[in-house]
Amino acid sequence: MAFWSSPVFARRFVQSLCLQNAHTSPAPRLPSSVWRYPRRGMSTMQAPSISQMSMPEWTEAFKRATVDIAKMDIHGISYEASAQRMRDLLRTGLLKHTDLRENPERFFEAHRLLAAHSTQTGPGFWIRFTVHYNLMAGTVLGLGTEEQVALLDDMQERGELGCFSLTEKLAGVNSGLIVNTIATWDEHSQTFELNCPDRGAQKNWISQGLVADKTVVIADLRLNGQSCGPHAFLVDLRRDGAVVPGVTLKDMGRKTVGNDLDNAAIAFANVRVPKGALLSRYADVEGGRYVQKVRGVPVFHMIGQRLFTGRVAVAQAALAFRRGLFEATQRHADAKKCWAPEGEPVLSNVPQLKALFAEAADKADVLERFVGKCEAKLCAYLRRNEMPDIPLTEAIAVAKVKCVEVSIDLCHRLKNEVGSYALMAGTGFEQSDFLTCCKFAEGDTRILMQKMARDRLRLHQKQPPVGPSAEWDEETKKCNELLMKLTEAEKCGDKQQAWDAHWVEVYELAEIIMARIMRDFA
Ligand SMILES: Cc1cc2nc3c(=O)[nH]c(=O)nc-3n(C[C@H](O)[C@H](O)[C@H](O)COP(=O)(O)OP(=O)(O)OC[C@H]3O[C@@H](n4cnc5c(N)ncnc54)[C@H](O)[C@@H]3O)c2cc1C
Repeated sequence: MAFWSSPVFARRFVQSLCLQNAHTSPAPRLPSSVWRYPRRGMSTMQAPSISQMSMPEWTEAFKRATVDIAKMDIHGISYEASAQRMRDLLRTGLLKHTDLRENPERFFEAHRLLAAHSTQTGPGFWIRFTVHYNLMAGTVLGLGTEEQVALLDDMQERGELGCFSLTEKLAGVNSGLIVNTIATWDEHSQTFELNCPDRGAQKNWISQGLVADKTVVIADLRLNGQSCGPHAFLVDLRRDGAVVPGVTLKDMGRKTVGNDLDNAAIAFANVRVPKGALLSRYADVEGGRYVQKVRGVPVFHMIGQRLFTGRVAVAQAALAFRRGLFEATQRHADAKKCWAPEGEPVLSNVPQLKALFAEAADKADVLERFVGKCEAKLCAYLRRNEMPDIPLTEAIAVAKVKCVEVSIDLCHRLKNEVGSYALMAGTGFEQSDFLTCCKFAEGDTRILMQKMARDRLRLHQKQPPVGPSAEWDEETKKCNELLMKLTEAEKCGDKQQAWDAHWVEVYELAEIIMARIMRDFA
């Protein structure tokens, strides 16, 4: 029986809700919501093990465990105190690191439950949570051996936080995961040495980077002077509370929102890490040679897998923010009287606002269903620990772009239709940069749209359309037209210049592709 489903764990879980947290100092205290949880008719003997909870039971337990997080004073709380809440939540064991594979519905539900408070809490805690569970733990789960995955249980029991160090000052998701931080293999000492050779290679904007105990670092693996491409390493950032020698952490500074979250620039200088730091399910170093363990599965493809789960979670978070903002504003608008030539209509009956509420409800409904379908299909792949197929990866990219961009558009228009209310602190409008974070997290809108257009043009070249051009659909016509323009422009300059010169048409093509995918995805 797995530890998590054993009665021993159930007992320890309930005890952990009652006990003080070993990490807190000097006066450790669990959130009051968590304190209440076992007291409400749940003795140690009665508590169901977490793994046996039904979805409604689990949802209720997670809500109770996060009551204090939802009520957090984000302007007053330090990032250390916010991180402590994350440690406390982690140690409840409610969401296991391995749930991403074994119980992915809980993983997505947890993200949605936290995002439901985002108009009040902003993006800070939500990012902290997703970086830890999806990017850090998810990468270990996806790329690690079973022994490496087992380390996640130890981290959870100890309440240790992790971060994910991909983005660099001059590289990251936008560069297609190509990075400049280097991990050089030393056969003699059987260690890797991590280095950022220049400023551009330093890790940038790493969420939870100032407090994390461990990080997954994406670095270019070098062996015998040769690059083996980006690989993931699970390394200590701290030991016994002190930052590991050779690691430099720098605060990114104050942000418009989310200052309860620490963001760090991280530099590595001659940091030695053991061989086991390389997450080695798919590739390893054996006898001084690079060995790809699973044919046809390059490591960087598997690193990218985390982006799919992240994109679904981000898409749903954007929708949750929009919903929260519209619901609160609707309550205000329903009660607020306005001047009119006759009578005193309520604000929500002013025609342009009424139309916006209706439009938002319709659009959100379509998007909720679409991203819900993506989630359901992705869960099946996650349980099998397989990469999603191409139609699903495309649909997920569309869901990410559309949910975020439609939410940004609707919230922006709402702000400009509700008068002075939108300027008031506490209405949620001041947290609108939550959506800006959604825009570039796990793949920026523009980059994703460019990829859609590029992939489609490649397909168009490989499989030219048949039949008379007058009968081609809009997408095929657009591909053809754009290809001809690009070919012409390439004669006068290079490919990138030609591409940039036709950026408007590139995004127009992407819009057509997205409309088709949303229509046809089943
Ligand atoms: C709050 C926060 C938390 C973060 N947490 C993490 C984390 O935990 N781990 C991590 O690894 N990273 C993290 N990041 C980094 C984040 O993923 C990057 O900020 C993001 O990838 C965008 O990079 P950039 O800001 O350097 O954008 P830039 O490269 O400066 O680009 C700015 C904009 O220009 C456009 N653009 C850029 N290049 C192109 C191009 N070639 N063609 C067309 N358009 C382009 C895009 O619209 C882009 O948004 C975080 C960032 C923030 C702000």
